[in-house]
Amino acid sequence: MQDSFVYQMLPTRVVFGRGTSATLPFEADRLGLRRLLVLSTPDQAMLAEQVEQLLGGRAAGAFNGATMHTPIDVTERALEVVKAGRIDGIVAAGGGSTTGLGKAIALRTDLPQIVLPTTYAGSEMTPILGETQGDRKTTQRNSKIQPEVVIYDVDLTLSLPPAMSALSAFNAMAHAVEALYAPDTNPIVTMMAEDGVRAIVDSLPRVLKEPDGPEARASLLYGAWLCACCLGATSMGLHHKLCHTLGGLFDLPHAKTHAIVLPYALAYNAPMVPEVMARLRRAMAADDAVGALLDLGRDCGIPLALCDIGMPYEGIAVAVKQALRNPYDNPRPVEAAALATLLTRAWAGSGI
Ligand code: NAD
Repeated sequence: MQDSFVYQMLPTRVVFGRGTSATLPFEADRLGLRRLLVLSTPDQAMLAEQVEQLLGGRAAGAFNGATMHTPIDVTERALEVVKAGRIDGIVAAGGGSTTGLGKAIALRTDLPQIVLPTTYAGSEMTPILGETQGDRKTTQRNSKIQPEVVIYDVDLTLSLPPAMSALSAFNAMAHAVEALYAPDTNPIVTMMAEDGVRAIVDSLPRVLKEPDGPEARASLLYGAWLCACCLGATSMGLHHKLCHTLGGLFDLPHAKTHAIVLPYALAYNAPMVPEVMARLRRAMAADDAVGALLDLGRDCGIPLALCDIGMPYEGIAVAVKQALRNPYDNPRPVEAAALATLLTRAWAGSGI
């Protein structure tokens, strides 16, 4: 038990369950919103139409141009729609990309946001926004970014393809794992992280077997929500910094990079955090938390090696150099030789 800590409650209202999208008009009225703009990706334009229908006369338009990495030019186009439509609130229906666009608009306008998440990425529970301009990515925290209402509707996740579900769930677990050993962790975050990992490890294999089974989907979404709360409440360590470095250097896919690196980053830190490892073993009902993550990734058909997703072997040395450039809090000091070993194993997918 920690004997001193700081815990900041996040102000988001959460509605969770099956069919909860139906509460959207009520939630909009609670916030006093009359002219809402619905955001989605081009792939989810149909979902945006359904959301507009749900909103009825409160819907004042849709913008279906959300895309990965929240490019600022897309945000600027959406802002023109906001201005022209005299929009007084945002409904983001989709994954982290759509949520990111809603957050970028809120940062610039302070408009209230209602989010209907359809993946397990967890952006909806954080005051964090990553934006890109050209190939430059900047990340910031700001209370304006935190959505006012999140409506988790299990039914909206049933269509997420199994492979994407697995990657997104690993992404969520990475938040909980790093929150457990974060310098600003606390007993509430610790409870959420342990229960989040437990729910995901238990439900993910069932979701992959029966992707439209609502019970396992509900448990997976619940776990992802808890993990997202952990991300919003703490600072991330080696795993997140390394994934950010690798993604930026070699243009690697975000979710796959997270899924591959997580067991290796955890193994790196494991000797310094025995209590965290005990919690993770309990959450995963396994004798070896790192081994359990590697096995789960294999069972879910997740790519197991960075070499399989486009990282060149020569990139290992480049990544080590870059990762050492900006120091940050991590349970185990980040040292060149040990980091090179970690990356060589993750590159080859050779296990620990
Ligand atoms: P995404 O939002 O990019 O979605 C990927 C694709 O899946 C899109 O084409 C989308 O239309 C489709 N899709 C989403 N839900 C679906 C569903 N239920 N059924 C069918 N198709 C569906 O992917 P993501 O992994 O949710 O989000 C990734 C982005 O979120 C990254 O840019 C990442 O940096 C960001 N992110 C931000 C935070 C934060 O706190 N700021 C946290 C996590 C992730």
